[in-house]
Amino acid sequence: MGKNVGKDSEDYGKKWVKKDEERENVYWPTDRLKEKCHISDKEIYEKAKKDPHNFWSKKAKDMFDWFEDWDEVMEWNPPYFNWFLDSKTNLSYNCLDRHLKDKRNKAAIIWEPEPLEEEKRILTYQDLYRKVNKFANKLKELGVEKDDPVTFWMPMIPETAIAALACQRIGAWHSIVFTAFSPKAVKQRMEDAGSEILITVDGFYRRGKTIELKEQINETLDEIEAENCIVVQRAETNPSMDQERDHFYDELMNKSEEYCEPEPIDAEDTGFLLYTSGTTGKPKGIKHSCGAYGVQAALTMKWIFDIHENDVFFSTADIGWITGHSYSLYGPLALGATQIWYEGSPDYPKPDRLWKIIEENGVTQFYTAPTAIRALRKEGDGWVEKHDLKSLRILGSVGEPIDTSTWKWYFEKVGGGRCPIVDTYWQTETGGILLTSLPGVGPFVPGVAGPPLPGIGYDVLDATGEPVKEEESGEIVIDGPYFGPGMLRGIYKNPEKYEEEYFSEFGEEVYFSGDGGVKRELEIGGQNLIEVTGRIDDVLEVAGHRLGSAEIEDAIDNLDEIMESAVVGKPHDVKGEVPAVFAVLKQGETGSDELRDKIVKIVREEVGPVATPYAAYFVTDLPKTESGKIIRRFLKGLVRDEELGDMTTASNPSCLSELAEKVGYNG
Ligand code: ATP
Ligand code: MG
Repeated sequence: MGKNVGKDSEDYGKKWVKKDEERENVYWPTDRLKEKCHISDKEIYEKAKKDPHNFWSKKAKDMFDWFEDWDEVMEWNPPYFNWFLDSKTNLSYNCLDRHLKDKRNKAAIIWEPEPLEEEKRILTYQDLYRKVNKFANKLKELGVEKDDPVTFWMPMIPETAIAALACQRIGAWHSIVFTAFSPKAVKQRMEDAGSEILITVDGFYRRGKTIELKEQINETLDEIEAENCIVVQRAETNPSMDQERDHFYDELMNKSEEYCEPEPIDAEDTGFLLYTSGTTGKPKGIKHSCGAYGVQAALTMKWIFDIHENDVFFSTADIGWITGHSYSLYGPLALGATQIWYEGSPDYPKPDRLWKIIEENGVTQFYTAPTAIRALRKEGDGWVEKHDLKSLRILGSVGEPIDTSTWKWYFEKVGGGRCPIVDTYWQTETGGILLTSLPGVGPFVPGVAGPPLPGIGYDVLDATGEPVKEEESGEIVIDGPYFGPGMLRGIYKNPEKYEEEYFSEFGEEVYFSGDGGVKRELEIGGQNLIEVTGRIDDVLEVAGHRLGSAEIEDAIDNLDEIMESAVVGKPHDVKGEVPAVFAVLKQGETGSDELRDKIVKIVREEVGPVATPYAAYFVTDLPKTESGKIIRRFLKGLVRDEELGDMTTASNPSCLSELAEKVGYNG
């Protein structure tokens, strides 16, 4: 076992959760955690509920510095709303300037590069501040103005944070495209946003390879007649550069003024554009505000990850996703926290890359996705057991429902049975976390996200729009106007889609999330916990019963042989639909009829005979988005012999040929 920097800490190795005395699978914070946490009294829910507007108004003042106060906290013209009317602030100021007086030498970003032999880079708040100011001046010199869209095709390197904050400083909006997407996706997004400038890298490292971006994008830049392209040199490649259009980042920075006045920006002005993951179809261009969004990112960061002065926060989310925006950038920096960024992949050069980072940096809060946990678990327990992870206090999960079996592994193996898991449910659209238990309040229940955040008006409705009873399932909604300030301000250039997608199902006063949930009997502070059961589109209607895909998958994933599974409905003459199972096996396991029988048995026992699978296919991989979510619409297409639809956001479309063969797809 290596040395752990966290060992000096009084928190090292402490127990932060205990079991419920009566109920199985329910955990609560220990007294020690309650004492430590910013929020440990369940009364916060009732207080916030009494007057949500006042609640958010107070929080906005606590969390942010404002250049000018608001006249009105919120305005609601269904389905549109505004927060903190006519106030002025600046996201970059809140992430940087205000920390200089007491945190200038504190690490803002600790960057762990791939290759591992390369020294890590530490940027203090002062470093980050200087670089952001200089880069902001350069953007201005290149003609970027307030409200101009700036597209990024950037990996997880510190310059990405610098450039994003520089945009915020001058009121330009970034639109960050994940590096695994193609030049075509960059082109579409640049055209959609009307963006004339791209920020990218010569190349970067992933799994031992150099991924060259600039060379790949040259043709696109010519085609769309981009005005400027800024190239950060990360990988010492020698990309071809257009003398007029292309600029090396280092050369720009060498000749830049040191200070750039932060633009006073209306809390409601656009802060950035970001496209959704594309799990259910073509990605939507979500428009976010700046100050109002920032308040929610900061507050959720503080309460849910319970950030303290000496903590080291590590979110594995790429900056190309909303989680990367809210919890790898704006949330941590707004709080003046220290956080880890890493380049590369969770399993390269070895499957203990993340565990090694946690140990070496004494990480206190770790935030990742079920898909990553499942993949690392598959590599065997030895990789995690090799490392001392006792610095950890809080674990987080995001992106998909986390099945009980994966939850327990995460809890026991990574958290040593000591740490709460905050299962955080939210969307690109919501800007910040909406459903989760607070660490100092609890409870923590495998597979159950939790109650809504204080100040958020969540409910679960049946098809007629009535709230469901306890232990019943329905559709997850937010009752207007109690959206957090971080909610989307529209789909870019597409108000019709905004109204149709989110505000038509239950009328224009209710935000429809598209996800299904069960209102659990368990409550805290008068709020029922909500179990997210997956997309409404993925709900199966079997003989008149509505079954969430997550519920059936959760049962199947309990089997020792199974790594992960996906369930979709296949049309059936009598029952309407019947469940079809796609299962990926753990290493060394083989698919057999006995295993099929076991799957049927466990589903019948845990969910009920109504959910009996009609078929189980053993496959080597499931189709996923670049953010790691299972794309069930492809599986549905396969079992129904229908068109599979938009594939641009799939990370591994090649796995579909194996699946097609297994199900006998002809489409
Ligand atoms: P698209 O909207 O383009 O189909 P997407 O919905 O996957 O893509 P995101 O905004 O990245 O794009 O993901 C949000 C969705 O992820 C939620 O609507 C929900 O289905 C799922 N999700 C996120 N966190 C959780 C969680 N903790 N538990 C269950 N599901 C979650
Ligand atoms: Mg979505």
